[in-house]
Parts: sequence; structure tokens; C-alpha cells
Amino acid sequence: MHEPTESCDLLGKSAQELRALAESLGEPAYRGAQLYHALYSERRSDFAAMTNLPAALRERLARDCAIRLPRILRTHLSSDGTLRYVLALSDPDARTANRAGSATVETVFMPEENRQTICVSTQAGCAVDCHFCLTSTLGLIRNLTPGEILGQVLVALADHRDALKPQTNVVLMGQGEPLLNYDAVMASMRILLDPNGMAVSPKHVTLSTSGIIPGIERLGQEKIRPKLAISLNASTNEQRDKIMPINRKYPIEKLLDACRRYPLRPWEKLTFEYVLLGAFNDSTEDAQRVVELISHLRAKVNLIPWNPGDLPYEKPDAGRLEKFRRTLADKGVPAFTRYSRGQDVMAACGQLALLESARSNLAQISSAAS
Ligand code: SAH
Ligand code: SF4
Repeated sequence: MHEPTESCDLLGKSAQELRALAESLGEPAYRGAQLYHALYSERRSDFAAMTNLPAALRERLARDCAIRLPRILRTHLSSDGTLRYVLALSDPDARTANRAGSATVETVFMPEENRQTICVSTQAGCAVDCHFCLTSTLGLIRNLTPGEILGQVLVALADHRDALKPQTNVVLMGQGEPLLNYDAVMASMRILLDPNGMAVSPKHVTLSTSGIIPGIERLGQEKIRPKLAISLNASTNEQRDKIMPINRKYPIEKLLDACRRYPLRPWEKLTFEYVLLGAFNDSTEDAQRVVELISHLRAKVNLIPWNPGDLPYEKPDAGRLEKFRRTLADKGVPAFTRYSRGQDVMAACGQLALLESARSNLAQISSAAS
């Protein structure tokens, strides 16, 4: 017996890669397509259950390969039904393992009446440094692999196997900046959105970015892609600079130019997210400036009242929030207030900083220092 090697972790491999793998094992290429079907369409993580493959091949795969799903370390159930997972990722790279231990990451499952929404992380931690977001306090621990991004969806679906609703939504709004882990994110999206793969509709998958312009331009060229949401969060460059240092590199006017050029599909709208920070960016003048910035775009705005963390900001006042929303709506900009779910278990937007991972990083750093 030998430990499966990293190259033989099947999770995250494309149909083409699995066909090549089948051939490398001396099997016909179509066995790879069958494996793809079993892994992603039937969502099997146990080779023995892949009954569309011959028994001898199943045994060989079980011996030589692995399907490394993230492991559930802990779950936190919110009073509103939201479930936050703390998942352990096996760390294939000894260099990052030294720095961060085996990385942990967070995934949030939100059950609704006719659907479930799964919020996945694309990086462990984040380098972007938005000052209102707890994830930023972790810094970037590491990029996730395509298998680790898909694995979060698979684990959350498997954990609710008996109570799944007909529709699954996936939002790339957990830890990390998806467009700074572009290749892995898109490799996972091609499998998630593939009708022969996990078959989630592109209308039900949203990638949220802090506004990485080269990534937005690249995404627009992809044939298969999720919807796009942009975290605007401010109405002037001066204001945005203060809370999102990335704005100095990609300022509002250039960001909106990229949005103007973005090739929307006929059914598609851009989403702008706007985190309301009390008495900072929630005035009626701010709302009016947002209208001026985006009213020429096919877009809607999601207003997210700031979720508290240990950071020096305030929740917005309910009256100001509603006035802000109405100012947009009255000027023809569709605007919706999104109360984040799962706040009592730190599962809401911007709260995914994993106290335990911060702690384990500190332990690593202090043990490395001693
Ligand atoms: N990195 C990506 C996606 C993850 S953050 C991005 O920034 O877009 C997902 C959303 O949560 C973003 O719109 C972000 O602005 C918002 N957010 C971050 N911290 C928040 C907080 N404390 N309260 C409310 N929303 C927050
Ligand atoms: Fe990173 Fe998004 Fe948080 Fe900004 S808001 S630090 S980009 S996760």
C-alpha cells in the first residue's frame, strides 16, 4: 500500500483530465467521462459506489487515487437555519503547510423554501485588505484549488442529502477574492456550470469581486461563466480609498468603464454590492452619487448593512438605510436590502475570519519563532 499522490486526487479534474488519466491507466478514454459523471453528476465520493465503472477499475482507482473532500471540522447552526461549516483542507504543499498548518476554510449553507444557497470561499484568508471585513485580518493564507472550491459545494450538498430543495445557488462570497485566484476559480466553475457536470445553472451562480479590473475583463471573455457582482461600497474615490485600498489601483471610474465594456448575456444584469457603514457612506448624497455612477448600466444594487466584527465601524441606522434604498429606487436603480443571514454564528458577509484559523496561525507563527 502506498499513499495516493497529489496528482491522483481526482476532485477538481476536468473531463479532459479524467479522460487522459483513464488512458494513462491503460483504459479507454470514455472511462474518464464515466468517472466525471460519477464524481460530479451523481456526486459520488466513494469509488465502490461508482457502479457505472467496472469493478476492477473501481478497485484500482481506490488503490491508486483519492477523492479528497474537505473534512468537516465543526458546524455552527444559526437561529435562522444558516449553517456555517469550518472545513479542513488537506494541504498538498509542504511549503504552505509549514506556514499555515493544514488550512481551514469556511462555507455557509442557507436553506430557503425552494432552494439552498451555498456560499463558498475561493482563498483561505484574503490579501485585499478591505478595512470593514474580518477576513482581511487573516491576510492571504493560500489560494484554494479547483477541487477545494468544488469540494465545499459537494460537502454541503452531501450533508443535506435528504432535505435538498430543487434549486441550488452558489455564491463566491466567502473568504477570498475570486479574481485573484482566477485559474482555479474558473476551472471549478467549468465543472459546476457544466450540464454534464454538477449542472448548476449560470443564472444561479454569482462571483463577487472587490473590483479587480483585469480579472473582470478576462471573465467577460469566458464562454462559461457565473454572474458578476462588484463590491462598490462607496460613492467617491476618496471614500473608497479609505475603506478599500485596492481602489488606488482600480479606481471607481476605471472600474465602471470595465463594467460598461462587460459583455452581459441577454438575461443578465450586473449586481453592485454596497456595504452600508453607519455615518460613513450611507447618506442621501451618497445614494445620489451612486445613481449617477451606475444608472447608465444594466444593474441592480444590493445594500448590505454592515455586519459587526471587531472593527471600528457602525451598523447603519435603519431609517437612513431605507432612505438610501428609496433614493436609488426612485431614480430607477433597482435596490434591495440584504440582511445577511447567520450573524449569530459569524456566518454573515465579512464575518468569515475563522477565529480558530487566526488562532492556529498565531500558534504556527509563535512556534516557528521559538
Ligand atoms: N472578496 C469578494 C467576495 C467576498 S466578500 C468581494 O469583496 O466582493 C462578499 C461581500 O461581503 C462583499 O460585497 C463585501 O463588500 C461584503 N462584506 C465584507 N465585510 C462585510 C461586513 N462586515 N458586513 C457586510 N458585508 C461585508
Ligand atoms: Fe477580501 Fe472581499 Fe473581504 Fe475585501 S471584502 S477583504 S476582497 S474577502
